[in-house]
Amino acid sequence: MKRFTRFLWILPGLLLMSQFNPQSSRITDTFFPEKHDLPEVTPALKKQKGFTDYEELNVFLQDLCAKFPNQISLSYIGSTKKGLAIPLVQLKSNSPGPKVRVWMQGGLHGDEPASTEALLYLLHQLLHDPTLTNLLQKIDLAVLPMANIDGYLKQTRNNAENLDLNRDQTKLMATESALFKKAFSAFKPHVALDFHEFRPYRRDFAKMSTFGVTSAYDVMFLYSGNLNVPAYLRTYTQEVFLKPTLAQLDQHKLTHHDYVSTDTYQGEIHFNQGSNNARSSATNFALQNIVSTLVEVRGVGIGRTSFKRRIFTGYLVAQAYLNIAASEGERLLTALEKADASTDNITVSSKKHIYAGKLDFIDLEKTERIALDVTLRDAWQSKATLSRSRPVAYLLEASQSVLVAKIEAYGLQVQRLDTPQAFKVEQYTVQNNQRAAEKYEKMTLQEVTTTLSTLTKTFEAGSFYIPVNQAGSPILFELLEPEAPNSFVSFGVLPTKAGEILPIYRLTP
Ligand SMILES: [Zn+2]
Repeated sequence: MKRFTRFLWILPGLLLMSQFNPQSSRITDTFFPEKHDLPEVTPALKKQKGFTDYEELNVFLQDLCAKFPNQISLSYIGSTKKGLAIPLVQLKSNSPGPKVRVWMQGGLHGDEPASTEALLYLLHQLLHDPTLTNLLQKIDLAVLPMANIDGYLKQTRNNAENLDLNRDQTKLMATESALFKKAFSAFKPHVALDFHEFRPYRRDFAKMSTFGVTSAYDVMFLYSGNLNVPAYLRTYTQEVFLKPTLAQLDQHKLTHHDYVSTDTYQGEIHFNQGSNNARSSATNFALQNIVSTLVEVRGVGIGRTSFKRRIFTGYLVAQAYLNIAASEGERLLTALEKADASTDNITVSSKKHIYAGKLDFIDLEKTERIALDVTLRDAWQSKATLSRSRPVAYLLEASQSVLVAKIEAYGLQVQRLDTPQAFKVEQYTVQNNQRAAEKYEKMTLQEVTTTLSTLTKTFEAGSFYIPVNQAGSPILFELLEPEAPNSFVSFGVLPTKAGEILPIYRLTP
């Protein structure tokens, strides 16, 4: 009886554990064996349970600074919602010549622990591994290792305001978001990597094959298919940075794919592939005309299973990008200048290419790799559904200082009119405004259509003039064109209604 009672006590615990970690040791050993030889040099690797906490993070970074004062420096970019200072690490050398600036961040989602740990491991290796130390002759590196600290300490995805920091990149409503943007634009990176982990046991996967499937990949990549990212830069990112990185993963028998996630459309599961959404980092960074990639390692919901393998995977990608950036050097800087010089028409909205394809999975019943027929919605094959001419500048009425503060957080130049001035501009009149019934990320979304009309308008002193001919300007189209899916209007940052004239104007040549 006593033993039976004890069993009843254990049972819910076992159920809870299996829910917390759905991955069997058979799947782990067959497809994702742990990398036991990874040296235990970071805080979480040094302990048996849990992940790096805030104090361990600070001690780890301060120790590196004390040991290598000439190579690494630590600053705090501001505080989280709960008041914790957010560390940013910079690595540099005094060697002369133009350097490539690389930004790396992890832990933007608080429940993706290997993203942070991979960056701590990278910092350690860059300072200790003699084969890597010469990289810093050619590169300045900024690392934001634990972006969403409040979320991380509770191992929850969102921040303390329950906002998803990777859906907040255009509206910048979360406490932390503007801090990240300001630190990012002060550093002016040429290359940016955002490290995440993905959930290999999605709810939709349980309905597939006989007894469900799990993702077949160690790592997936998001690199922007947004049509406002100059085509030249999209191809450069893929061909020059991603492809050689994949070859390195192959050498280490780590499996990879373009990022896919599921969504249900009229009752059918579809796979979204790639990214073109300016609200998330992969595309948001690329829209500032830099090389940008989001790295998704297999890890959410599996605790510390294959933890060293996950850390090593992230590290390998980081190290590959650093090596490529160092060897590209001037070529990379020229490529980004070419992107900044684009004069193409702009895309306001687009749709993904939808087609029948195949994807690999691991079948949970047979424990083997299988290919399934799926419907794909591919962001890399987007087509414009609404285009406009590229304006010379946007003008905003003096009342729009809240929007302007967000634009300035991107490091973009905004001029203020000293005296009233007349411009021949295009104004937007809202035709339709469909307001969403439910809130998304605490915002009331609006889907608008507008008509443009040309007029000569006198703008009062204090109005804002934002030139488009400046570095990193494509993000402006996504913020300011009202129909763009993540614009200030679409996200409800600028509420409007049918019949209204927007306080945003286009200056055309
Ligand atoms: Zn994530």
